[in-house]
Amino acid sequence: MGIIVQKYGGTSVAGPERIQKVAARVCRAVDAGNQVVVVVSAQGDTTDQLLEMARAISPRPPKRELDMLLATGEQISIALLAMAIDALGYKVISLTGAQGGIMTDEHHTKAKIRKVNGERITTELKRGAIVIVAGFQGVTADNNITTLGRGGSDTTAVAVAAALQADICEIYTDVAGVYSADPRMVPDARLLPEVGYDEMLELASLGALILQPRAVEVAAIYGVPLHVRSSFQDCPGTIVREVEDVEKAVSVTGVASDDNCAQITIIGVPQEVNTLQLVFASLAEEGINVDMIVKASGRAATTNLSFTVQRSDLQSALEAIHHLPGAGQWEISANEDVAKVSIVGAGMMTNPGVAAAMFDVLAEEGVPVELVTTSEIKVSCLVPRKRLKDAVSSCHRRFCLHEAK
Ligand code: ADP
Ligand code: ASP
Ligand code: MG
Repeated sequence: MGIIVQKYGGTSVAGPERIQKVAARVCRAVDAGNQVVVVVSAQGDTTDQLLEMARAISPRPPKRELDMLLATGEQISIALLAMAIDALGYKVISLTGAQGGIMTDEHHTKAKIRKVNGERITTELKRGAIVIVAGFQGVTADNNITTLGRGGSDTTAVAVAAALQADICEIYTDVAGVYSADPRMVPDARLLPEVGYDEMLELASLGALILQPRAVEVAAIYGVPLHVRSSFQDCPGTIVREVEDVEKAVSVTGVASDDNCAQITIIGVPQEVNTLQLVFASLAEEGINVDMIVKASGRAATTNLSFTVQRSDLQSALEAIHHLPGAGQWEISANEDVAKVSIVGAGMMTNPGVAAAMFDVLAEEGVPVELVTTSEIKVSCLVPRKRLKDAVSSCHRRFCLHEAK
């Protein structure tokens, strides 16, 4: 008898009918002879609504209390799904993250799973129950409830699958699998039958919402194969696993986009100031991640610095920078109307000229590029937000991603 972990996203459990459909699918997996653990997200846009409720009370709610609030979304889903499965006559139990042994660090709203204490889940499975675990939440050693960052239910599912040494972790969502670009933005995007962990990690980190990057990271570390598929239709979906044959890898597999960025530019810092260290240390202290960075010499022995942060971190980042010694003399500006387009492909390392082809097509399309970053398997360009769709579509076309490779 194998263990399967199935994760259902917010759209898949939005409303009683969908929950009943999920329940039926879970029971089919049990009928096929599997032990099944189910991880669920909050229904529909519940998490967004909870965030709005918090903002209506306070512009900066304490993160611990925000986690107390956000965790309620998933608790609704687990209870309702357990009721639906019980109504079908199957033994079932729902568990919060804490009850399911999801132990995290203390970083409220962005916590990382340290360990999954799988005893309770295992005991319930042995008793013959279907176990439903709340995604996105965990508990610290001090018994405080934490959440894992947006999209965190994916990571709960993968971590549980790793801890139980499950045969597979199935991610059920509102599209048929992983595509060569967001199918909502590029209608002729192609469903990818298989993606390697490395490429998937880049795609997810660069804005392909389909999987939380941390989930892919954990899957890669523990070798958990992922099967991303539709919860509405029976389609083959996408398998994410270790792909060894880099020789065969295509130069570009997919295009990702991220419009949750903001650019900060600092002009006129005296050259004797170690700007990079000063600025980035202060942002790190605030837990703010910096993404694209360009440092250049300015006029009259000064340095200019331009970089991007997540748009939601912009205000905190600006505050931190304005508090730095000497900041009163610098010209500090922010631009929220930017977005990032990236091309990803494991074959890029062996195919020169890919970045040039990207710059070429963006220039042809008249899309200005503000900042560029590259790695062995990706090229990212910061572009005006209103041109993001054109940038994504033109790159998708240029690398013929709609065609089967
Ligand atoms: P869930 O609630 O099931 O976790 P998400 O909204 O988090 O679903 O992720 C699914 C969404 O990811 C899709 O609706 C799609 O618009 C988006 N997406 C972005 N990039 C891709 C891609 N390359 N392939 C598939 N979906 C993508
Ligand atoms: N409900 C959480 C969110 O909306 C977690 C998830 O959906 O994975 O981000
Ligand atoms: Mg998601």
